[in-house]
Amino acid sequence: MTETAIPEDHPRYASLVTRHRIEAGVEKGITSKQGLIAQGRGEAFDYLLGERTLPSADAAARAAAAALLAADHPVVSVNGNVAALAPAETVELAEAVGADLEVNLFNHTDERVRRIADHLREHGADEVKGLAGDGEIPGLDHARGTVDADGIEAADVVVVPLEDGDRAAALDAMGKTEIVIDLNPGSRSPRTADIPIIDNLVRAVPNATAHARDLADAGTAELDAIVADFDADDALAAAEAAIREGSFAVDDPE
Ligand code: ATP
Repeated sequence: MTETAIPEDHPRYASLVTRHRIEAGVEKGITSKQGLIAQGRGEAFDYLLGERTLPSADAAARAAAAALLAADHPVVSVNGNVAALAPAETVELAEAVGADLEVNLFNHTDERVRRIADHLREHGADEVKGLAGDGEIPGLDHARGTVDADGIEAADVVVVPLEDGDRAAALDAMGKTEIVIDLNPGSRSPRTADIPIIDNLVRAVPNATAHARDLADAGTAELDAIVADFDADDALAAAEAAIREGSFAVDDPE
């Protein structure tokens, strides 16, 4: 079934559309096969969260927007799932906060980096980093630790949606302010993040952009206060509570 062939009134519409985008990403050579597995894990957690943005995730998206606007050199990292699921929205977020876009893959090949960069350009990006590979994240092997020296290596604030736990820890050890978008509050990467957004990427990215636009005229003191008020442990606990205490009956018409 193509994306347009899925009836909008289908009860699983949003989930089917995202699944189809990942499939199309694999066919287009921008998403890895492991990306399909990541998608399945994400869907399961989204189901348990009620496929909605929790108030705690909304607060995290606002804190993320504030941290990005206050940053000297923010970078939004893009992998194959991000490129397949929300290319235009990711380009818009980078534009709204003045961040660089860098393709950063767990299963790196130059060919896939090029394809993702082209895909982002088709969705409005100007410059896309990730091919220079002249920088490194210390503590990781070459394939996983290679980044651009004037991109992620030099960044003070990084958005790493759907990041692998080891890389999230290594970026944290570099002293970067790390924003992770992940549906699983128990996963290592959000637990390492300064600002974990426990939400579906397809909701979290446009939401962070909306907050960034809302905060466009805010001064440094206001931005810093929003970031300082955010508590990562509280946000993780709120998402875990929503999963453990949620009820499948909420949306049940019976
Ligand atoms: P970690 O190494 O951080 O412990 P993991 O092994 O649990 O991670 P992976 O399977 O490597 O996780 O990556 C998939 C992660 O991405 C899962 O935590 C999943 O919830 C998350 N994920 C998948 N799709 C989405 C999405 N659309 N939005 C947000 N998170 C997603």
